[in-house]
Amino acid sequence: MVTQNSHELFTEALRHIPGGVNSPVRAFRGVGGEPFFVAEAEGSHILTVDGEELIDYVGTWGPAILGHAPDSVIAAVCGAASRGLSFGIPNPYEVEMARTIKDLVPSIEKVRMVNSGTEATMSAVRLARGFTKRDKVIKFEGCYHGHVDSLLVKAGSGALTHGTPDSAGIPSAFADLTITVPFNDPAAVRQAFAANKGEIAAVILEPVPANAGLYLPEPGFLELLRSLCTESGTVLIFDEVMTGFRLSPGGAQEIYGIVPDLTTLGKIIGGGLPVGAFGGRADIMDHLSPDGPVYQAGTLSGNPVAMAAGLTQLNELVARGGWSELERLGNLMEEGVREAIAGKPLTFQRIGSMFCLYFHPGPVRNLAEAKLADREKFARFFHAALDRGVYFAPSQFEAGFLSLAHTPEDIEETRRVMVEALAVAG
Ligand code: PLP
Repeated sequence: MVTQNSHELFTEALRHIPGGVNSPVRAFRGVGGEPFFVAEAEGSHILTVDGEELIDYVGTWGPAILGHAPDSVIAAVCGAASRGLSFGIPNPYEVEMARTIKDLVPSIEKVRMVNSGTEATMSAVRLARGFTKRDKVIKFEGCYHGHVDSLLVKAGSGALTHGTPDSAGIPSAFADLTITVPFNDPAAVRQAFAANKGEIAAVILEPVPANAGLYLPEPGFLELLRSLCTESGTVLIFDEVMTGFRLSPGGAQEIYGIVPDLTTLGKIIGGGLPVGAFGGRADIMDHLSPDGPVYQAGTLSGNPVAMAAGLTQLNELVARGGWSELERLGNLMEEGVREAIAGKPLTFQRIGSMFCLYFHPGPVRNLAEAKLADREKFARFFHAALDRGVYFAPSQFEAGFLSLAHTPEDIEETRRVMVEALAVAG
């Protein structure tokens, strides 16, 4: 594919921005080469600054569930912006957003808006600590919860891709309070609880981990976490920044029938603008400022333009009953991929509109198994697909996303491209 303009921009970016990017995974280090720059995006397609049109399965890392630049969201953003960009005092959209989230996610009795998924998980963990008056937190290897100090321990996503799952700059006093255990390992979780009796403030997890590729919770695992937390007065936090409103109206917790104490949200609720949220049991949420002792705040939190974008996206998803259509598209994608990979030692995992193709015969149930994937083969596959007009996430350790804008024709073209790209990957 032609990349002359992208190359010039990236060369310039490298002079001004660390690594040339504002978020590490965009640097394509997981696959080699340089990132392309985007001129515009619409529906399921991205147009690069070199005029290349790509079928996009990254969807700005999850938010673009209706596809890029849906008319309804653009109109809502323009309408809200024309009435003012930020007020720093309550606006009606915030109330409507809180009500909408509560209606869709019954475990959320009260919710507070923030500006990113990172802020949501950071605040949820602080709240859990303030509520329980305990310090320790259990997280799972390969789960990524944003770049929160105490959660950048054995983290997934870009931290994993770039070989820094345990980031420098985090005092050991913080990291020591984070206990990491393998996902889908009941014995390890039981052992962590037993060894830290009465000391664990929170268990935080992606109920469907999607930052080391994509793997699913095994039957009984989430139930075990729920009961251990209940028994020990520990706050169970589901990080649904990625799965919230993507897997179902009520997220992964609805699908697996587990009620967490707190839930973190982001991505889809911003409709493409920077938004996050955390919410849950009212008795816990009421520990927040201004009524409670746990401080949390934000100059732009509940921003009217961002709220208008997110609300419009959520309302359209609900009105269109988007989740059954996403499942239909996911099925179609799965059929195509299974045909393309038949007889090859690869593993395809999918739930709804999220998927991952591991370059490994499987099974993949945790980080250790995800890391067995052949990353060099993945990189060859990635570039061969990109050269043929299909953009998958630039790392083996990320999930792919379908949107309501993907068409059966997109998916058929993707299947055709995958066959060729797999042949190149070898
Ligand atoms: N939690 C999960 C599950 C995520 O996937 C991410 C980002 O990908 C985050 C938290 C952090 O969100 P943000 O990048 O908006 O800070």
